[in-house]
Amino acid sequence: MKISEQLKNKSRTTSFEVFPPKNDAAYAPVEAAVDTLSGFQPDFISVTYGAGGGTSVNTPKIAAHIQNDLHIPALAHLTCASSSKQEIERIVLDLKAKGIENILALRGDLPENYAPDRNHYQYASELVTALREIGGFSVGAACYPEGHVEAASPEADLEHLKEKVDCGAEFLVTQMFFDNTALYSFLYRALKKGIDVPVLAGIMPVINKRQIARSCALSGTTLPSRFKVMIDKFSDNPEALKQAGIAYATEQIIDLIANGVNGIHIYTMNRPEVAGAIMHNLSSIL
Ligand code: FAD
Repeated sequence: MKISEQLKNKSRTTSFEVFPPKNDAAYAPVEAAVDTLSGFQPDFISVTYGAGGGTSVNTPKIAAHIQNDLHIPALAHLTCASSSKQEIERIVLDLKAKGIENILALRGDLPENYAPDRNHYQYASELVTALREIGGFSVGAACYPEGHVEAASPEADLEHLKEKVDCGAEFLVTQMFFDNTALYSFLYRALKKGIDVPVLAGIMPVINKRQIARSCALSGTTLPSRFKVMIDKFSDNPEALKQAGIAYATEQIIDLIANGVNGIHIYTMNRPEVAGAIMHNLSSIL
């Protein structure tokens, strides 16, 4: 099923993100994690695409397993910065042959010494256009409540986001955020700009201090002080940090839903027990 149709027909969606294995040896545990996640009956599961194209085989493979064996709509991420237009077309046709109907169109982080190349799509908006021309997919794109790190200004970022939507992105998935007011402010500004497609809130349950410090530094995500205090307090006790991270994510989602945000996308980090605990906490809400 196309995610654009789901978002039209359902008043609320809950979805998960997983990342594919880099090599065959690691495939079975990821597939097992996905199988367990499917038991929580998400509306769809997205599969990331390794930076630099390193998962061009395993992203379609795990997405096909989700779509065809587990009968849950799969959303395959696809980045264009490191692949030629011909490579992109080959991957897209492979996804289509595998029955995948949904693609999250991304530029990807720029490789070191990146130089624009006419044979590559330069921005995600160009990939969105190409995917719409190929046809047959519901196409989504990324958005950044706190602005993308490279953006000249929040206003410029919003203008480029509007371009992505005008090119055919039918829904947006946010970068992780830990302060809901950042999302509310973004949604207000986006709507004012005419960006009226569904926005799914990306929620990252924090279970590892080092991982979160690194990815927040790279993405420019702000850490609210009560969140920092929580991490500092429990960083040397992994089980306590996991419990606190699950509680924080649960509370964030309750506040989002209470404020009318109807799409929740959980970054599971391939940890079904973490996503499962959140789903359990919200069993009467989601
Ligand atoms: P774009 O939308 O192209 O924007 C990139 C930058 O260029 C922004 O600063 C934007 O303001 C600017 N820009 C856009 N258009 C123009 C223009 N015409 N002129 C000038 N500036 C412009 N990375 C992966 O490698 N694999 C993944 O699976 C993956 N999944 C992700 C999922 C989500 C939900 C999110 C939020 C991010 C994900 N990323 C992933 C990270 C993403 O690839 C990086 O954040 C990347 O740096 C930007 O990608 P984008 O698609 O947002 O780029």
